[in-house]
Amino acid sequence: MALLITDECINCDVCEPECPNEAIYMGVEIYEIDPHKCTECVGHFDEPQCVQVCPVACIPLNPAFIEDRETLWQKYRRLQAGTSQTTASVPEAAISHPDSAV
Ligand code: SF4
Ligand code: SF4
Repeated sequence: MALLITDECINCDVCEPECPNEAIYMGVEIYEIDPHKCTECVGHFDEPQCVQVCPVACIPLNPAFIEDRETLWQKYRRLQAGTSQTTASVPEAAISHPDSAV
């Protein structure tokens, strides 16, 4: 299952940087969780990190996204594959200086 943030969220900003999948983002009024990115922290941590840090305990399971551990693992692996596809090829700047005829 993915998790979700309820309207008890006080926008404290604490959970967003803790998410290893970058699944948490600021929504229209409160923080939200992208259920397609949330693995319940499977693959990264034993416990959901957002739940650990939330001061008001407003991050329950999302009943609309019921997933077993194997499915969460598959989601984790899919996300990792997507991440590693980022090409870090910085084109070499071939700057040709015009001859300084001095
Ligand atoms: Fe992110 Fe983990 Fe919270 Fe899901 S449970 S939103 S992966 S920190
Ligand atoms: Fe909202 Fe809890 Fe996240 Fe703070 S830690 S922004 S209260 S969901």
